[in-house]
Amino acid sequence: MKLLDGKMLSLELQTEIAAEVEAHVANGGRKPHLAAILIGDDPASKAYVGHKVKACAKAGFESSLIERKGNVSQEELLDIVRELNEDDSVDGFIVQLPLPAHIDNQAVIEAVKPSKDVDGFHPENVGRMALGLPTFLPATPGGIMTLLERNGVKTTGMHAVVIGRSDIVGNPMTSLLSRNSEPGNCTVTQCHSRTVDLKSHTLKADLIIAAVGRPHFLTADMVKEGAVVVDVGINSIEDSSRKSGRRLTGDVDFENVAEKCSLITPVPGGVGPMTIATLLQNTLRARLASKR
Ligand code: NAP
Repeated sequence: MKLLDGKMLSLELQTEIAAEVEAHVANGGRKPHLAAILIGDDPASKAYVGHKVKACAKAGFESSLIERKGNVSQEELLDIVRELNEDDSVDGFIVQLPLPAHIDNQAVIEAVKPSKDVDGFHPENVGRMALGLPTFLPATPGGIMTLLERNGVKTTGMHAVVIGRSDIVGNPMTSLLSRNSEPGNCTVTQCHSRTVDLKSHTLKADLIIAAVGRPHFLTADMVKEGAVVVDVGINSIEDSSRKSGRRLTGDVDFENVAEKCSLITPVPGGVGPMTIATLLQNTLRARLASKR
């Protein structure tokens, strides 16, 4: 078994991005600027946004964090989005999900200007991705494709099983893996909570993407010998050996699955850092595409 090390690759990508930013600035260009909107005080969301802001600084980007309390009105949030759409100093921005229950997620996503939608969630960008047109790939599936590519994993002809059908992971992952390209060219089976006999599908898979949100969901008896396993899950579980009493773990029973598969992503240090690197790539792309 070999690790698909997302932490190491993301550092390489960040170095490449920082070099591009330096060259752009040396040629008289402005630094890329990523803004993040954070609503409420969910600790996981705060941590994710914190990682993104830190990564911006390392890559030589400007970043702004716009925070509002969890009781912000939908209108106020939409006003912030509209301001960022019009702000020429901002190249791209994200609205950290999930949003409080009283906010209409879709209305917020659709309010983001597609050319600044570096999360790739706007229907226009989702449609372009589905058609294989140039666009911002959603950061998590985009990062997984880069992780496979840069580790020399040839996916053409593989039978891939994606567990999950969310708009941010499962659905775009299915679309990208079935593309007529390398990485891609997979025969994809997409599973979800209504799938009957999930194990019969995963046992046939050469590549499994687990995006379920349940700790240790994918167990060794569900995995074929030699399969490639990508663990998207980030779950906080109790761990009395830690000072905080908790630790992060994935959707895969790593210790036992690792013994069976050829390649596997760890949690943390797998898909998470790749998501951040892809967000930076998207923001740099937005900067370079902008005439401002
Ligand atoms: P989500 O919106 O909750 O989707 C979970 C999917 O899993 C759903 O499609 C659900 O099916 C399916 N599912 C749930 N129970 C199942 C079961 N027993 N059998 C088969 N399928 C089942 O979650 P998400 O946003 O896609 O995220 C998934 C995980 O990835 C979470 O742990 C999240 O924290 C993590 N994540 C990590 C990153 C990263 O950067 N590493 C980024 C995003 C998300 P239904 O559709 O039928 O309900």
